[in-house]
Amino acid sequence: MDPILICGGGIGGLSAAIALVRAGMPVKVLEQAPSFSEAGAGIEIGPNAARHLATWGLKELISAFSNEPEGIQVYDGLKGDLLTTVPLGKFVRDRYGSPYLVIHRKHLQYCLLEAAVELDGLEIETGFKLTHVEVQLDGVTAKSEAGGTAQGRALVGADGLWSTVRGCISDDEPQPSGVTAWRALLPTARTPETADKPYIGLHLGPHGHVIHYSLEAGKSTNVVAMIKETINFDGWASPGKRDDLLPYFDAWSDRVFELLERSKDWHKWTVMSMDPLERWGKGLVTLIGDAAHPIEPFMAQGGAAAIGDAASLAKAVAAQPDDISKAFRAYEATRQTRATRIQKASHQRGRIYHLSGPMRWTRNQLLRRQAPETLLTHYDWLYSPVK
Ligand SMILES: Cc1cc2nc3c(=O)[nH]c(=O)nc-3n(C[C@H](O)[C@H](O)[C@H](O)COP(=O)(O)OP(=O)(O)OC[C@H]3O[C@@H](n4cnc5c(N)ncnc54)[C@H](O)[C@@H]3O)c2cc1C
Repeated sequence: MDPILICGGGIGGLSAAIALVRAGMPVKVLEQAPSFSEAGAGIEIGPNAARHLATWGLKELISAFSNEPEGIQVYDGLKGDLLTTVPLGKFVRDRYGSPYLVIHRKHLQYCLLEAAVELDGLEIETGFKLTHVEVQLDGVTAKSEAGGTAQGRALVGADGLWSTVRGCISDDEPQPSGVTAWRALLPTARTPETADKPYIGLHLGPHGHVIHYSLEAGKSTNVVAMIKETINFDGWASPGKRDDLLPYFDAWSDRVFELLERSKDWHKWTVMSMDPLERWGKGLVTLIGDAAHPIEPFMAQGGAAAIGDAASLAKAVAAQPDDISKAFRAYEATRQTRATRIQKASHQRGRIYHLSGPMRWTRNQLLRRQAPETLLTHYDWLYSPVK
């Protein structure tokens, strides 16, 4: 039997490969990079995603590399006042049956690859940059930039924000959201004491916010500063100069300014957004992860949603292995509404984070007065197991 081809070996592609092979389907992953070498920084894994990783046998491996923060300490970014502490840790495990974790992206990739290479029926070809797809009645042919071909039963586009596979289904393209994300990894020895805690720190301010958490068994601190700015889009990720970043935070609390000042090596990303696609698939082709639904990172859910897509896709294919087109449509029907809800909720979260003037004051009052658990349980629809 020809394998199902998966274009892209990122979080979504590797997750789909693991889930599909475990469901009895041979898979071939086509990854454009010559080798797997995720640099990047930290990523939060909500309980909705941690649950699937555990199902795929990754619980121990992931917990060896990840941290489980006790909560999210939310501050007013300008004044430095603590507004609330949203409980994570035990509260999340008790309520949702799986943990809220943070992990370095290179370690998440390592764990997924470790799980993948263990499985019979899973092949990975690196250095295959898909440029063209031919869809026949009973299969697909993927062609690479270098002239290679791969034959499959069907094709899953897990090729991220700038998906080539999406071109088979839609002409829509992501657009700059008006926010730039700056990221740095700070060795713990250089992390100010105020930030070196078993909590995620979140500092809200007009026109931006800052988030930080401890990674790699306490060896480093992941720092992300998001700023609203008019962007001349110059690519996905590029080095950023600290001196260009700091002026945005001149009026912020000392604890934020000091943290940003101590981080030397910055990279910046243009955060992109895209209106929900009318459809995610056609015939023997479907999409998952950022290729299907780029999610602004204000709820830390893009990777988690890709993992959830992978689990749903495998379930749908296992239910009708003899009719992959139908299985793909069933998968899309279960995930599309949910992904749109996450996209909208993330966008809304960003607007709340960046309020200014009287609205900022009102938000702060609400955060102070509201029971901290409700800030999380408001998202039960997201974190609870999907029925
Ligand atoms: C600042 C920031 C912070 C974030 N924080 C979080 C967080 O804390 N938690 C969370 O869950 N999410 C977070 N996200 C979102 C998350 O990073 C993405 O949603 C996730 O990486 C999407 O995974 P993916 O597999 O769909 O795409 P990608 O990770 O982009 O993977 C796509 C893969 O496809 C390959 N590829 C691309 N084109 C081709 C081609 N033509 N042929 C072959 N291969 C190809 C690429 O090389 C890559 O390996 C954040 C995003 C940003 C920008």
